[in-house]
Amino acid sequence: MQIVFIGPPGSGKGTQCEQLSLRYGLPHLSTGELLRRTKGKSPLGDLVASYIDRGCLAPDFLVLPLVMRLLDQDDFRAGCLFDGFPRTVFQAEFLSHHLQEMGQGVTAVVYLKVDEADLVDRLRKRAMLEGRADDHRQGILQRLEIYRQRTEPVLDFYRAAGLVEVIDGAKSPNDVHAQIVDCLASRGS
Ligand code: ADP
Repeated sequence: MQIVFIGPPGSGKGTQCEQLSLRYGLPHLSTGELLRRTKGKSPLGDLVASYIDRGCLAPDFLVLPLVMRLLDQDDFRAGCLFDGFPRTVFQAEFLSHHLQEMGQGVTAVVYLKVDEADLVDRLRKRAMLEGRADDHRQGILQRLEIYRQRTEPVLDFYRAAGLVEVIDGAKSPNDVHAQIVDCLASRGS
């Protein structure tokens, strides 16, 4: 079961993937988390930080090898919860191609829908709690803009394949979890 999570920054992808990873016993692949871990550890890590902290997408030559290396591990063969990847149509095409080579494909796409006003509020709170360097005002607006321009078209890419499940991400985390589980069950996943 290869499940892709799409939603704007602050829509709760990370929280949901953590819970679902426990429920289904599938690994959670967060490209944001992977990239943050490389920060400050090497010149390449510093380059990554310069993108993340400004709220820009990291370049594919940094992101794609990280994803590929994980997908080729045995733990990921049975399935994976993709959080924050793919974020562009190019990345979506890349993922389809890579999964196809493994004799697999994307099973479903969970779209976490949340209003923009709610997102800004959530991200400001997260900035206070977790101190993430990209949760400052300019970083938030920049990430929302990139989401609209680069990531929303990924939804159309998957809609064309009938894979998208729309979830009301404004509800409580438990409620959102239940909605996702129901949708996946009704798809036979
Ligand atoms: P959020 O969804 O709140 O923006 P993430 O942890 O998913 O948080 O991502 C944080 C940052 O990591 C992004 O703003 C971007 O700079 C980088 N990033 C994460 N995933 C990708 C990706 N697939 N491609 C390029 N950059 C990425």
